[in-house]
Amino acid sequence: MSQSQVPTVKLLINGEFVESNTDRWEPVLNPATQETLAMIPFATQEEIDQAVQSAQEAFKTWRKTPIGVRSRIFLKYQQLIRENMDELAEILTAEQGKTLPDAAGDVFRGLEVVEHAAAIGNLQMSEFANNVASDVDTYTLYQPLGVCAGITPFNFPAMIPLWMFPMAIATGNTFVLKPSEQDPMVTMRLAELAMKAGVPKGVLNVIHGGEEAVNAICDHPLIKAVSFVGSTKVGTHVYNRASLNGKRAQCMMGAKNHAVILPDANKEQTLNNIVGAAFGAAGQRCMALPVIILVGDARDWLDELVERAKTLKVNAGKEPDTDVGPLISPQALERVRRLIGEGEAAGAKLLLDGRDIKVPGYEKGNFVGPTLFADVTTEMSIYTEEIFGPVLCVLTADSLEEAIDIVNANPNGNGTAIFTQSGAAARRFQEDIDVGQVGINLPIPVPVPLFSFSGSRASKLGDLGPYGKDVIRFYTQTKTVTARWFEDDQVSEMNTTISLK
Ligand code: NAD
Repeated sequence: MSQSQVPTVKLLINGEFVESNTDRWEPVLNPATQETLAMIPFATQEEIDQAVQSAQEAFKTWRKTPIGVRSRIFLKYQQLIRENMDELAEILTAEQGKTLPDAAGDVFRGLEVVEHAAAIGNLQMSEFANNVASDVDTYTLYQPLGVCAGITPFNFPAMIPLWMFPMAIATGNTFVLKPSEQDPMVTMRLAELAMKAGVPKGVLNVIHGGEEAVNAICDHPLIKAVSFVGSTKVGTHVYNRASLNGKRAQCMMGAKNHAVILPDANKEQTLNNIVGAAFGAAGQRCMALPVIILVGDARDWLDELVERAKTLKVNAGKEPDTDVGPLISPQALERVRRLIGEGEAAGAKLLLDGRDIKVPGYEKGNFVGPTLFADVTTEMSIYTEEIFGPVLCVLTADSLEEAIDIVNANPNGNGTAIFTQSGAAARRFQEDIDVGQVGINLPIPVPVPLFSFSGSRASKLGDLGPYGKDVIRFYTQTKTVTARWFEDDQVSEMNTTISLK
């Protein structure tokens, strides 16, 4: 494809997919080949303002649109996503690198939130207390806020945008989305399908860019709430800047998830689960398992774990039977390689080294093979930093209590898991562990949308999580009404009293 044939990613403003007027464009690269798939614009401040203004205008009518009308749009939307699942997964794999089944899973987890949005009326119902005083009732209204915005990361370019705009829109808000500039194409296809499903013009807008676009969102006086998912560094900045500007902010951020493995666990199941969660999606999941703690005799499982990790097939995501695809960018590849080098230099035992892997036919891809360190200590940078690559750090402990102490001393609180056949040990773990999402014999405990994503501590800023019940409160303002109604004779009595005064 010559440069002039490379497609451009459009902005979505006021119901139209439009070409940006910007003079800053960046390539969207296929991480397995470095082929330029599209050019993405970094929207101008004027374009960002147009998107917000159109959302503000659309809010005037959308906020009063009946619940059933909103719901039917999301019923139609979920159908369109299902019908286009294969195409969505292919776009996602090409720009993000994950395997086709993983890409379909990414879309599917977002689809579940869309289904949830179609039933939002049940959750947005309010409270009513009869006769709080004589003839007085009190009730609440959960009213939409206005223009809300979302900023999303590269690693789930379908699921995470779908965590945000369907929930915000279904509750009566309008939305401005800024997807990751590294893989915006599947997000844009989802935006097209949303418009086809009947989302009115101005209700969903999409702008593109990086730091400047994010700052413009945090500063814009018409935006009432900002939902962010991404790294801890950027999320902390977004939370502070948006909050100082009087906005609600919800930031789901970085992680370093640990699994604790007790010697009574089902060995076969546990090792398979660990290998999938540590190395699948090339370790680029916020709920991946980059750390395991082998407790007591489970230490003896290490050799077998290494052997299983060696069997994983590293290849481009679109190739069949691929287990581990490429990292998102050459910069990510460089960083992961550097951290592996630091781990080795710090004295961790490198039992499997994926740095020099070659993938025939994809020599330019950002590949790192499964990498496994034993003898890791909690001061090493491979432990303290979120590597976001297929690198597993193995620690050991003599008891469950010691393992729990290690997990709780880590500042992150996104996810954790325990593998055991003991109900008492599992209960002890769920009770004492200070992490928001806990798996019991499940490596990646991401809640379905009946619940909310509930990372905690350094992995999250803001009180309320995305999707589930929490998000209804995030995207609405509670208004409490205390009301008394007079009978007709009381009204005339009152009028007489007033006229006599
Ligand atoms: P990132 O923080 O680099 O980017 C996220 C968003 O912020 C993108 O839209 C990007 O354009 C924007 N951005 C980047 N740099 C910026 C800057 N300096 N100022 C303002 N905005 C900026 O994150 P990423 O690399 O795309 O995603 C990976 C990270 O996301 C990991 O840390 C992962 O753990 C985290 N994540 C967390 C969750 C969760 O639910 N907790 C889910 C998925 C990903």
